[in-house]
Amino acid sequence: MTPTRDLAGYRVVAVHAHPDDESISTGGALADLARRGADVLVVTCTLGEEGEVIGETYAQLIADEADQLGGYRIGELARALAALGVRGTFLGGAGHYRDSGMAGSAASRNPRAFVNCGEGGVDKLAEILEAERPHLVITYDPNGGYGHPDHIRAHEVAHAAAERTGVPRLVWAARLRSELEGGLPAQAPDGWRLPAPGELDAVDGTETWVELGEETYRAKVEAMRAHATQITIGEAAGPEGLTTYALSNLITQVITRREHYRSGAGAPLRAGGGLLEGIAK
Ligand SMILES: [Zn+2]
Repeated sequence: MTPTRDLAGYRVVAVHAHPDDESISTGGALADLARRGADVLVVTCTLGEEGEVIGETYAQLIADEADQLGGYRIGELARALAALGVRGTFLGGAGHYRDSGMAGSAASRNPRAFVNCGEGGVDKLAEILEAERPHLVITYDPNGGYGHPDHIRAHEVAHAAAERTGVPRLVWAARLRSELEGGLPAQAPDGWRLPAPGELDAVDGTETWVELGEETYRAKVEAMRAHATQITIGEAAGPEGLTTYALSNLITQVITRREHYRSGAGAPLRAGGGLLEGIAK
């Protein structure tokens, strides 16, 4: 079924820390916006060089061995963006800023680490926003969703650049605890474990959400599957038959039918309203 292109003429920029974040936290909304005609650009701030790797095939690409993971993940990101139907670019160009790793790690002291980008990162994003003139910017909350230093820096850079360039609305991606935990299967798939109550990063309330239709949901699953060094996609399971997945920590999660969003800056979201609702084309 061809969706109505009711959002043609709108422009959206999503600001993400690493390849895979765009799909995991916002893939449904990005695919939905694009299918409905909005022009969507994903700005990825690092190559995710410090990530772990799932499986043996590419295990030696990690930072402490071949240090080739970042380049490899460019290909994964390209396939994910194609599945979502959106465009992509890297802040400052591919490889300009490096994954900062976890707080306090040696990687975070690299002068090229994204956490050390200073005002330069804001300038580079502002340049992109000046060229794109988006109606909406999507990023994370002040905690970066789960506390990763690159996610927190992406939040700061997105807010500063959006304010400087007068973006009408900025929203934060969020996950609703009741949906995340309610959709889990009773038993973890082989080799994975279930999260402890409260273990997954989530919030208890949001202003609005994007409902993922069948094709949008499939696009999100395929986009996540493209990040095979980072994500394993499992079977559909649990009370709602949601697709399961795990990161390298092997904690069972589900791809929910809704992606939630909160007002971050500019025109607030209406409760239950669309992400672009109330913003003039
Ligand atoms: Zn990330």
